[in-house]
Amino acid sequence: MKPRVLIVEDEPGIADTLQYALRTEGFDPAWVATGEEALAQVKAQPPALVILDVGLPDTSGFEVFKRVREFSDVPVVFLTARSDEIDRVVGLELGADDYVAKPFSPRELVARVRSILRRSAKPPAPPPVAPTPPLVVDEGKRQIRFYGALLELSRYEFGLLQTLAARPGHVFSRDTLLDKVWDDSDSLDRTVDAHVKTLRAKMKLVAPTLEPIRTHRGSGYALAEDLPASLPA
Ligand code: CA
Repeated sequence: MKPRVLIVEDEPGIADTLQYALRTEGFDPAWVATGEEALAQVKAQPPALVILDVGLPDTSGFEVFKRVREFSDVPVVFLTARSDEIDRVVGLELGADDYVAKPFSPRELVARVRSILRRSAKPPAPPPVAPTPPLVVDEGKRQIRFYGALLELSRYEFGLLQTLAARPGHVFSRDTLLDKVWDDSDSLDRTVDAHVKTLRAKMKLVAPTLEPIRTHRGSGYALAEDLPASLPA
């Protein structure tokens, strides 16, 4: 998005020059010639910055500035033509962001605009990070990610980890696991143990310091409930 800069200036020649200079430098200029239009524009389409001529046909730029400040903090750069105007702006009784005296170099004015916008830019808010659980099971693809890393799992390893991950902290007995994951009833308890062992080895490659599958002596296995939200450094 190009920053929108509103030019409030009743002299078309100056407005044209400014619009051209701003457009060339990557801004999106808009131009109005009166104070009333300026107020309406700032309300309707809040610009990133206003370049405000002091001598306007309907009112003074100072008056426009005061009225803008009633509802907007938009940065304002005054264009001044007379030394008494400059004195007033410089006296900062108005609190404008900057001023440029006519005649001015469009390039210099654009440089000021750029620096004011940089100064007033709020640091972008970090995008909200949805917490990703350490284990993400994709049943459709039969894939499990562990801290984002895709685990290469055999059919039984997948079934085992999927079962454990469905209820972190819950202790599954070997019999229950055999029943849920293995379809032939001839498998043995040590089948479960062997697969837990290979599963652990694969998870260790991703998180060497963690113990995601806990052994509960005599009763079975459980997925750790206290896995950190992100991989320890
Ligand atoms: Ca003027």
